[in-house]
Amino acid sequence: MAGLSLRHIDKIYPNNVQAVFDFNLEIEDKEFIVLVGPSGCGKSTTLRMIAGLEEISAGELLIDGVYVNETLPKDRDIAMVFQDYALYPHMTVYDNMAFGLKLRHTPKDEIDRRIRDAAEILGITQYLSRKPRALSGGQRQRVALGRAIVREPKVFLLDEPLSNLDAKLRGQMRTEITKLHHRLATTFIYVTHDQVEAMTMGTRIVVMKDGYIQQVDSPQNLYDYPINMFVAGFIGTPQMNMFEGEITFNKKTAKVKFGENAITLSSKVVERIPESQRFDRPIILGVRPEDIHDDEDKVAEFKDSLFRGKIDVVEKLGSETLVYIAIDGKENDVIARVNPHSTIAVDTEVDLAIDINHIQLFDPSTERNIFMEEYVAPQVEEVVDAPAEETVEG
Ligand code: ADP
Repeated sequence: MAGLSLRHIDKIYPNNVQAVFDFNLEIEDKEFIVLVGPSGCGKSTTLRMIAGLEEISAGELLIDGVYVNETLPKDRDIAMVFQDYALYPHMTVYDNMAFGLKLRHTPKDEIDRRIRDAAEILGITQYLSRKPRALSGGQRQRVALGRAIVREPKVFLLDEPLSNLDAKLRGQMRTEITKLHHRLATTFIYVTHDQVEAMTMGTRIVVMKDGYIQQVDSPQNLYDYPINMFVAGFIGTPQMNMFEGEITFNKKTAKVKFGENAITLSSKVVERIPESQRFDRPIILGVRPEDIHDDEDKVAEFKDSLFRGKIDVVEKLGSETLVYIAIDGKENDVIARVNPHSTIAVDTEVDLAIDINHIQLFDPSTERNIFMEEYVAPQVEEVVDAPAEETVEG
């Protein structure tokens, strides 16, 4: 059992760089939490503070309700897997896996049992007597995972564990780590800059930017209800299309004009916009590539939300076709993901339909999603069991 509470955590490095600002998160036992964001956004720093490898500048970290800010890494019951594996080159796989347990004076037969179990789970039993240099990258990463598993920790921390592997192996290891999480039924906290890893592995994803949490939610909710333009653009490939325009509200409907095109939002869509946000202004219309359609049925269904574009490039990928579209003379301005059997042809001018039920609308000055203005971020409880010096009265 291990839940974690991160409450108002800041990290300021000795050179005065603030890497993490007011990080708040309640992690439940057995969750698979992914911290994702571009390089430098503070993911590793956060993970290293949980591990105890970096001091927490302000705020509280609790593991299973116990305040651990000052607890040494080795006493936190946490195991960390790094990107570069950090295996001892002169030791066999077996000894690499045994090392941490020997330091803890675990009995020899217990060490042996745990190593054989972990090796079995990871499919590395036949490599136990090899040295790391005689293993492939994927095998080394399994050993690094094995070394963490044998410790039977309450929490697994993984820092970009797959980034040294090639694309195919990364895909395989992703699935293996997900299976491992099910099998071990322990809390996993995983750092990556790769939104595909985040989406496929996380039960909840924490999107970070410039040291701040942007949004915490399930993969599907982040995709369907991004709180701002950053999250909308970061999650999903190809990226969400962003059309700069103006919105004007009529009695029940609204019009979004962008360049030479204008679409009408039905009353059903307008009702989803909080009343306080229903005023005329510049707007950014966000549309996912799969919500732009070229087939007759959809063009008929969404006849009030058509736009005209010139087809620049058609990429047939087999299971889907990506279409790059110029509107108002801007090349490759828009990307649509259409049916693989679409007959859409390069250099033609066509009407394309936007599925208005799945659009997003962002205020260009705040970059926030106006549909989500009444979204309340998950709150953290105020600290009740604060460290002694902060509870002294007077
Ligand atoms: P990420 O893991 O998201 O790539 P990091 O947590 O490694 O980001 O870094 C966050 C910020 O903190 C960056 O601006 C980075 O340069 C800075 N940083 C990281 N480690 C140190 C350090 N030891 N000393 C000073 N600044 C650091």
